[in-house]
Amino acid sequence: MGRRLRRAVIALDLLRAQREGATGLDRRQGARLSALVAHARASSPFYRAKYRGLPDQPSLRELPVVSKPELMGAFDDWVTDPRVDRAGVEAFIADPTRIGAPYLGRYFVCRTSGTTGHPGLFVHDAHACAVYEAFTARIDLAWLSGPQWIQMARQRARWATVLGTGGHFAGEGWMELQRHRDPWRRRTLRVFSLQRPLPEIVAALNAFDPAVLTSYPSALELLAEEQLAGRLQVRPVIVELGGESLDDDARARIAAGLGGALHDAYSASECMAMAYDCAHGWLHVNSDWVILEPVDADGRPTPRGEASHTVLLSNLANRVQPIIRYDLGDTVLARPDPCPCGNPLPAIRVQGRRDDVLRLRSAEGATIRVLPLVVGSVVDETPGVQRSQLVQTGARSLLLRLDLEPGASAERVWTQAHARLADYLVDQGLRGVEITLGADPPARSATSGKFRQVIAGGY
Ligand SMILES: [Zn+2]
Repeated sequence: MGRRLRRAVIALDLLRAQREGATGLDRRQGARLSALVAHARASSPFYRAKYRGLPDQPSLRELPVVSKPELMGAFDDWVTDPRVDRAGVEAFIADPTRIGAPYLGRYFVCRTSGTTGHPGLFVHDAHACAVYEAFTARIDLAWLSGPQWIQMARQRARWATVLGTGGHFAGEGWMELQRHRDPWRRRTLRVFSLQRPLPEIVAALNAFDPAVLTSYPSALELLAEEQLAGRLQVRPVIVELGGESLDDDARARIAAGLGGALHDAYSASECMAMAYDCAHGWLHVNSDWVILEPVDADGRPTPRGEASHTVLLSNLANRVQPIIRYDLGDTVLARPDPCPCGNPLPAIRVQGRRDDVLRLRSAEGATIRVLPLVVGSVVDETPGVQRSQLVQTGARSLLLRLDLEPGASAERVWTQAHARLADYLVDQGLRGVEITLGADPPARSATSGKFRQVIAGGY
């Protein structure tokens, strides 16, 4: 089946499933889970060993939980296509010119940064990609009103994504994959790199005139300020937030600055567009293809209405690298009663991690804001870095804490990480910021117990 036809068939089924309500959604979820488990047992040596001793038709709860370090450690046994292997995927993502290009001519590949200490490599097959694309139809129908459709069409549905680039991360890779495949999307989708200086991003966005603007909340706050100052002049129909959680004040600042309807989607490198928000502020899970189970620290289900310790993801669309009861690490709260918006898809809220925006003083005395996701990945991309943490110690000084990969030379890693960070800061207009190596490894907050990669100081 051709790609477009496949996507259309899936999109129709998504709409039908939603119309059938909980019964239709659950039936599809059950059948797809059974098929995925059977496939994993037949074609993934990792799952065959893991599921040995389980009944022929295990229930979801009977399946053992898996983690990223465990799966990454068994990568070549985990994947179900013997042509896919870790060495090949690593070689592929080492080449930044291949971002969004199909791996082995057929797979979408992306990676996570080392912020949690264990970078992940994720491979999505053509069917999974068609499902993610079809989700867009469901989301557009939920988000856009009649007048907004018209405004979208007037702006040729141009979609700008502003994010950290160059690392084969999911956001950029997914956009580039669409551009790669489709000449129309090559014109209408564009990625703007947050590594570039802000005035350059602003000028490029003004020229592009996006109908949809997607970025991290911290970056959207910067753009909202630029818009209020009159330098940025965009008129997005939709402003989509991703990657970080957001408090109400920041939400209001973004909405006031940028205009357009603010929306949240919940995505991961392991599964694109797992959930999307409604007017009542809940995220609705695409439960016909995605299972999210809020659980406590021992893996037991968290009661609805309570915040979970973590959430387990099962991605029912992707066969090449089965993700079944995978510990995603986010804290999630499931809505106990039906959402007043009427959407039958289960409703959740996600408490993501929120790193601080650094405010540093330039040599010229200006305050320059540095975004946590980007500056964190600049350090994490240094060979030999397993995990890093940046602590602001003054208006022009930072402390860098490093966890190294086994066997890495501490001196070489520090020299390279320092150079990369200093280069990045210079690009942002921050010459001569002092960067010191911390004596201690990256640490969790003594109060919240949460790990923050970037800790601002308020100087
Ligand atoms: Zn709702």
